[in-house]
Amino acid sequence: MKKLVVGNWKMHGTRASNAELIQGLLAADLSVSAPKADVAVCPPAVFIADVAAALAGSAIAVGSQDVSVQAQGAFTGEVSGPMLKEFGATYAIVGHSERRSYHSESDQLVADKAKAALSHGLVPIVCVGETLAEREAGQTEAVVGRQLQAVIDTLGADLAKVVVAYEPVWAIGTGKTASPEQAQAVHAFLRAQLKAAQAEAAAVPLLYGGSVKPDNAAQLFAQPDIDGGLIGGAALKAADFAAIARAA
Ligand code: PGA
Repeated sequence: MKKLVVGNWKMHGTRASNAELIQGLLAADLSVSAPKADVAVCPPAVFIADVAAALAGSAIAVGSQDVSVQAQGAFTGEVSGPMLKEFGATYAIVGHSERRSYHSESDQLVADKAKAALSHGLVPIVCVGETLAEREAGQTEAVVGRQLQAVIDTLGADLAKVVVAYEPVWAIGTGKTASPEQAQAVHAFLRAQLKAAQAEAAAVPLLYGGSVKPDNAAQLFAQPDIDGGLIGGAALKAADFAAIARAA
Protein backbone atom coordinates (compact mmCIF):
# COMPACT_ATOMS: atom_id res chain seq x y z
CA MET A 1 0.00 0.00 0.00
CA LYS A 2 1.24 3.51 -0.79
CA LYS A 3 1.94 5.35 2.45
CA LEU A 4 0.11 8.56 3.40
CA VAL A 5 1.93 11.34 5.24
CA VAL A 6 -0.23 14.22 6.46
CA GLY A 7 0.92 17.43 8.11
CA ASN A 8 -1.36 18.94 10.76
CA TRP A 9 -0.33 22.57 11.07
CA LYS A 10 -2.73 23.14 14.00
CA MET A 11 -3.26 26.84 14.83
CA HIS A 12 0.10 28.00 13.54
CA GLY A 13 1.28 30.23 10.74
CA THR A 14 0.86 33.50 8.93
CA ARG A 15 0.51 34.05 5.22
CA ALA A 16 4.23 34.85 5.12
CA SER A 17 5.37 31.81 7.10
CA ASN A 18 3.03 29.55 5.11
CA ALA A 19 4.50 30.84 1.84
CA GLU A 20 7.98 30.02 3.10
CA LEU A 21 6.94 26.55 4.26
CA ILE A 22 5.25 25.82 0.94
CA GLN A 23 8.29 27.03 -0.98
CA GLY A 24 10.40 24.57 1.00
CA LEU A 25 7.95 21.71 0.37
CA LEU A 26 7.79 22.43 -3.35
CA ALA A 27 11.58 22.61 -3.53
CA ALA A 28 11.74 19.16 -1.91
CA ASP A 29 9.78 17.84 -4.93
CA LEU A 30 8.07 15.11 -2.93
CA SER A 31 6.53 13.28 -5.89
CA VAL A 32 10.08 12.48 -6.99
CA SER A 33 11.96 12.41 -3.69
CA ALA A 34 9.25 10.56 -1.78
CA PRO A 35 7.61 8.38 -4.44
CA LYS A 36 6.20 5.91 -1.91
CA ALA A 37 4.05 8.47 -0.13
CA ASP A 38 0.93 10.44 -0.83
CA VAL A 39 1.36 13.73 0.98
CA ALA A 40 -1.11 16.29 2.32
CA VAL A 41 -1.04 19.33 4.60
CA CYS A 42 -3.86 20.59 6.80
CA PRO A 43 -3.57 24.34 7.49
CA PRO A 44 -6.00 26.38 9.58
CA ALA A 45 -9.28 26.82 7.66
CA VAL A 46 -8.69 30.47 6.76
CA PHE A 47 -5.48 29.54 4.91
CA ILE A 48 -6.87 26.58 2.95
CA ALA A 49 -7.67 28.59 -0.18
CA ASP A 50 -4.20 30.19 -0.27
CA VAL A 51 -2.38 26.96 0.42
CA ALA A 52 -4.42 24.98 -2.11
CA ALA A 53 -3.70 27.62 -4.76
CA ALA A 54 0.01 27.60 -3.97
CA LEU A 55 0.14 23.79 -4.12
CA ALA A 56 -2.02 23.43 -7.24
CA GLY A 57 -0.37 21.11 -9.72
CA SER A 58 2.02 19.73 -7.10
CA ALA A 59 1.89 16.28 -5.53
CA ILE A 60 0.76 17.74 -2.20
CA ALA A 61 -2.95 17.69 -1.36
CA VAL A 62 -4.70 19.89 1.19
CA GLY A 63 -7.00 19.03 4.06
CA SER A 64 -8.86 20.71 6.90
CA GLN A 65 -8.37 20.15 10.62
CA ASP A 66 -12.09 19.78 11.31
CA VAL A 67 -15.43 19.93 9.52
CA SER A 68 -18.98 20.72 10.57
CA VAL A 69 -21.58 17.97 10.66
CA GLN A 70 -23.90 20.45 8.92
CA ALA A 71 -23.75 21.42 5.24
CA GLN A 72 -24.97 24.99 5.81
CA GLY A 73 -27.18 27.10 8.01
CA ALA A 74 -27.23 29.02 11.28
CA PHE A 75 -24.17 27.41 12.86
CA THR A 76 -21.99 30.34 13.88
CA GLY A 77 -18.28 29.70 13.62
CA GLU A 78 -18.57 26.40 11.74
CA VAL A 79 -17.02 25.56 8.38
CA SER A 80 -18.86 23.05 6.22
CA GLY A 81 -17.68 20.26 3.98
CA PRO A 82 -18.93 21.92 0.78
CA MET A 83 -17.01 25.10 1.70
CA LEU A 84 -13.80 23.19 2.33
CA LYS A 85 -14.26 21.25 -0.88
CA GLU A 86 -14.87 24.42 -2.90
CA PHE A 87 -11.60 25.88 -1.64
CA GLY A 88 -9.52 22.84 -2.52
CA ALA A 89 -9.57 20.43 0.42
CA THR A 90 -9.29 16.71 -0.24
CA TYR A 91 -9.10 15.48 3.37
CA ALA A 92 -10.71 16.49 6.68
CA ILE A 93 -9.18 15.52 10.01
CA VAL A 94 -11.94 14.66 12.49
CA GLY A 95 -11.78 13.79 16.16
CA HIS A 96 -8.28 15.04 16.86
CA SER A 97 -7.66 14.62 20.59
CA GLU A 98 -7.36 18.39 20.98
CA ARG A 99 -10.91 18.76 19.69
CA ARG A 100 -12.16 15.83 21.74
CA SER A 101 -10.72 17.34 24.92
CA TYR A 102 -10.89 21.14 24.43
CA HIS A 103 -14.16 21.16 22.49
CA SER A 104 -15.87 18.21 24.19
CA GLU A 105 -16.35 16.29 20.96
CA SER A 106 -18.00 12.94 21.65
CA ASP A 107 -17.34 9.70 19.82
CA GLN A 108 -20.71 10.07 18.10
CA LEU A 109 -20.07 13.67 17.01
CA VAL A 110 -16.72 12.61 15.55
CA ALA A 111 -18.40 9.75 13.70
CA ASP A 112 -21.07 12.14 12.39
CA LYS A 113 -18.33 14.49 11.18
CA ALA A 114 -16.66 11.61 9.35
CA LYS A 115 -19.99 10.84 7.69
CA ALA A 116 -20.52 14.50 6.76
CA ALA A 117 -17.01 14.72 5.28
CA LEU A 118 -17.62 11.66 3.12
CA SER A 119 -21.00 12.91 1.97
CA HIS A 120 -19.31 16.09 0.66
CA GLY A 121 -16.49 14.30 -1.12
CA LEU A 122 -13.81 14.74 1.55
CA VAL A 123 -11.76 11.85 2.92
CA PRO A 124 -12.06 11.87 6.71
CA ILE A 125 -8.93 11.20 8.74
CA VAL A 126 -10.46 9.91 11.96
CA CYS A 127 -8.19 10.25 14.99
CA VAL A 128 -8.35 7.86 17.92
CA GLY A 129 -6.08 7.50 20.92
CA GLU A 130 -5.83 6.94 24.64
CA THR A 131 -4.56 9.24 27.40
CA LEU A 132 -1.61 8.28 29.58
CA ALA A 133 -3.94 7.44 32.48
CA GLU A 134 -5.99 5.18 30.22
CA ARG A 135 -2.86 3.40 28.94
CA GLU A 136 -1.54 2.92 32.46
CA ALA A 137 -4.91 1.51 33.50
CA GLY A 138 -4.68 -1.06 30.70
CA GLN A 139 -7.58 0.52 28.81
CA THR A 140 -5.88 1.38 25.51
CA GLU A 141 -7.78 -1.17 23.42
CA ALA A 142 -11.08 -0.45 25.15
CA VAL A 143 -10.73 3.29 24.46
CA VAL A 144 -9.59 3.19 20.83
CA GLY A 145 -12.01 0.33 20.20
CA ARG A 146 -14.92 2.41 21.51
CA GLN A 147 -13.85 5.46 19.47
CA LEU A 148 -13.55 3.39 16.29
CA GLN A 149 -16.79 1.49 16.91
CA ALA A 150 -18.81 4.73 16.76
CA VAL A 151 -17.36 5.32 13.29
CA ILE A 152 -18.06 1.74 12.21
CA ASP A 153 -21.67 1.93 13.40
CA THR A 154 -22.26 5.32 11.79
CA LEU A 155 -20.62 4.80 8.40
CA GLY A 156 -21.91 1.35 7.55
CA ALA A 157 -20.97 0.43 3.99
CA ASP A 158 -18.77 3.53 3.59
CA LEU A 159 -16.33 2.43 6.28
CA ALA A 160 -13.62 1.45 3.79
CA LYS A 161 -13.44 5.05 2.48
CA VAL A 162 -11.91 6.55 5.61
CA VAL A 163 -8.38 6.98 6.93
CA VAL A 164 -7.76 6.27 10.62
CA ALA A 165 -4.98 7.88 12.65
CA TYR A 166 -3.86 6.35 15.92
CA GLU A 167 -2.55 9.18 18.07
CA PRO A 168 -1.81 8.32 21.68
CA VAL A 169 -2.60 11.53 23.56
CA TRP A 170 0.52 11.15 25.71
CA ALA A 171 2.70 11.22 22.59
CA ILE A 172 1.24 14.35 20.98
CA GLY A 173 3.56 17.33 21.14
CA THR A 174 5.45 15.79 24.03
CA GLY A 175 8.50 14.41 22.25
CA LYS A 176 7.50 10.98 23.66
CA THR A 177 6.81 8.74 20.69
CA ALA A 178 5.10 5.39 21.05
CA SER A 179 7.71 2.75 20.33
CA PRO A 180 7.26 1.04 16.95
CA GLU A 181 6.11 -2.07 18.85
CA GLN A 182 3.57 -0.16 20.97
CA ALA A 183 2.17 1.57 17.89
CA GLN A 184 2.12 -1.63 15.84
CA ALA A 185 0.19 -3.47 18.56
CA VAL A 186 -2.58 -0.87 18.56
CA HIS A 187 -2.62 -0.67 14.76
CA ALA A 188 -3.03 -4.45 14.53
CA PHE A 189 -5.93 -4.21 16.98
CA LEU A 190 -7.59 -1.45 14.91
CA ARG A 191 -7.00 -3.37 11.67
CA ALA A 192 -8.68 -6.45 13.13
CA GLN A 193 -11.66 -4.40 14.32
CA LEU A 194 -12.06 -2.79 10.88
CA LYS A 195 -11.76 -6.14 9.13
CA ALA A 196 -14.30 -7.77 11.42
CA ALA A 197 -16.74 -4.97 10.59
CA GLN A 198 -16.21 -5.15 6.83
CA ALA A 199 -13.72 -7.17 4.77
CA GLU A 200 -12.81 -4.21 2.50
CA ALA A 201 -12.09 -2.04 5.54
CA ALA A 202 -8.99 -4.12 6.24
CA ALA A 203 -7.35 -1.87 3.63
CA VAL A 204 -8.17 1.39 5.46
CA PRO A 205 -4.89 3.34 5.80
CA LEU A 206 -3.81 3.45 9.45
CA LEU A 207 -1.61 6.44 10.23
CA TYR A 208 0.43 6.85 13.39
CA GLY A 209 0.69 10.29 14.99
CA GLY A 210 2.48 11.58 18.06
CA SER A 211 5.97 13.10 17.97
CA VAL A 212 6.91 11.61 14.60
CA LYS A 213 10.27 13.10 13.62
CA PRO A 214 12.78 12.48 10.83
CA ASP A 215 14.81 10.20 13.11
CA ASN A 216 11.97 7.87 14.17
CA ALA A 217 9.73 7.89 11.08
CA ALA A 218 11.42 5.07 9.15
CA GLN A 219 11.16 2.62 12.07
CA LEU A 220 7.51 3.45 12.63
CA PHE A 221 6.63 3.24 8.93
CA ALA A 222 8.39 -0.14 8.67
CA GLN A 223 5.77 -1.75 10.93
CA PRO A 224 3.35 -3.97 9.01
CA ASP A 225 0.19 -2.13 10.07
CA ILE A 226 1.51 1.44 10.00
CA ASP A 227 0.55 2.96 6.66
CA GLY A 228 1.85 6.47 7.22
CA GLY A 229 1.82 9.33 9.67
CA LEU A 230 -0.06 12.35 10.95
CA ILE A 231 2.62 14.89 11.74
CA GLY A 232 2.20 17.94 13.99
CA GLY A 233 5.27 19.88 15.10
CA ALA A 234 7.62 18.44 12.49
CA ALA A 235 5.21 19.42 9.71
CA LEU A 236 6.01 23.08 10.33
CA LYS A 237 9.57 22.66 9.06
CA ALA A 238 9.79 21.84 5.36
CA ALA A 239 13.04 19.91 5.70
CA ASP A 240 11.70 17.74 8.53
CA PHE A 241 8.35 17.07 6.88
CA ALA A 242 10.07 16.18 3.60
CA ALA A 243 12.46 13.86 5.43
CA ILE A 244 9.50 12.12 7.09
CA ALA A 245 7.76 11.71 3.71
CA ARG A 246 10.97 10.26 2.30
CA ALA A 247 11.07 7.73 5.14
CA ALA A 248 7.75 6.27 3.97
P1 PGA B 1 2.97 16.07 17.07
O1 PGA B 1 1.39 16.18 16.78
O2 PGA B 1 3.60 15.46 15.86
O3 PGA B 1 3.40 17.49 17.30
O4 PGA B 1 3.12 15.21 18.27
C1 PGA B 1 0.70 15.18 16.11
C2 PGA B 1 -0.76 15.52 16.02
O5 PGA B 1 -1.32 16.05 16.99
O6 PGA B 1 -1.42 15.31 14.97
